[in-house]
Amino acid sequence: MPASPTFDDVAAAADTLDGVAHRTPIHTSRIVDEQAGMSLFFKCENFQRVGAFKFRGAYNAVSRLTAEQRRAGVVTFSSGNHAQALSLAARLHDTTATIVMPHDAPVPKVEATLGYGATVVRYDRYTEDREAIATDIATSQGRSVIPPYDHPHVLAGQGTAAAELFTDVAGLDALLVPLGGGGLLSGSLLAGVGLSPDTQVFGVEPATGDDGAQSLRAGQIIHIDPPRTIADGAQTTHLGRHTFPIIAEHVADILTATDEQLIAAMHLVATRMKLLIEPTAALGLAAVLANRDRFAGQRVGLLISGGNVDLTRFVSPTP
Ligand SMILES: *Cc1c(COP(=O)(O)O)cnc(C)c1O
Repeated sequence: MPASPTFDDVAAAADTLDGVAHRTPIHTSRIVDEQAGMSLFFKCENFQRVGAFKFRGAYNAVSRLTAEQRRAGVVTFSSGNHAQALSLAARLHDTTATIVMPHDAPVPKVEATLGYGATVVRYDRYTEDREAIATDIATSQGRSVIPPYDHPHVLAGQGTAAAELFTDVAGLDALLVPLGGGGLLSGSLLAGVGLSPDTQVFGVEPATGDDGAQSLRAGQIIHIDPPRTIADGAQTTHLGRHTFPIIAEHVADILTATDEQLIAAMHLVATRMKLLIEPTAALGLAAVLANRDRFAGQRVGLLISGGNVDLTRFVSPTP
C-alpha cells in the first residue's frame, strides 16, 4: 500500500475501474450558467453505480487486496453510501462484506446494503464504538477493514471521477468538490496534479462542520462534534491522516455552504436540469452561487458526488 499516494495511484485506479465503474456524464445548462454568471460543468456521480462516487474507491481498494485477503472478506463501519459501495464491490469480487451500522440507521439504507448481499451487524451509537466493533470482526474473522475515506487505495479510486472530468473538459479554471473526510477531495487534487495543474481545486463543507477549513488554518487535523446538517455525506468530525496532508499541500481553499443554500441549489438543478442530487452533492453549486464574484466568467467544474436522497423528504409537500 502506498504510504503517500500520488497521481500514479489515481491512474492505476482508473485502469482497474475501466469497464466496471460507469464513466459518468457531464451535464451543462445554459439557464443555470446565465443565473450563475459562469460556465458550469456537472460531473454526475449521481449516475454512478450505487448512486455515488464511493463505488470507485471501494472497488479499487478491494481489488488491491491479495487473493488470500480478498477471500477472507472485508468489513467497514459506515452506514452511508460507502456501505452500499463496499457491499457491491465485495460481491463483484466474489467475496463477502460485513457492515457495522447503528440500530437507528434508516431502513432503506439497511435494506439496500442487505440487497447487495452484505451482512449487517447492528450497534448502539450512544454506548458502543463502531470502529472497535469493526476491528474486532476484522481480527476474529480475518477480514480487511476498508474505511470510507482514510485509506490510500480508497482515495486514489475516488480521484478517478475528477480525472475523467479533467480529460473530458479542457481548461477548467476551478473545480469544487464536496468535503467530508476528504477522500474525494484528496483524490481529486492528485488527479489535478497529473492532468490539469492550472485548475484551482476547492473543497466545500457544511457551514456547521467546517473542521476542514479549521484544519487548514491550524496546519493540523482539528476534531469537531458531529455537525447538524442535511449534508449527511459530510457529517464527518475530522479529516484523515492520509487525506489531510494531500489537502494541505494542494487545495486552493476550503469554502462552506449552509443548509438553506444547499436546498436552493438542489431545487435549481431539479427544476432546470432535471437532476436528482443529494444535499451533500449540492455543496459545490451552493458555494459558487454564494461566491459569484470570485468565479465570475470562469469555467468551473462541479463534482456532483451522489444522488441518494430520501425521496419521502424530497417530494413531500410543505404544509
Ligand atoms: C462520502 C460522500 C461525500 C464526502 O466524501 P469524503 O471522501 O468523505 O470527503 C460527499 N458526497 C457524497 C454523496 C458522499 O457519499
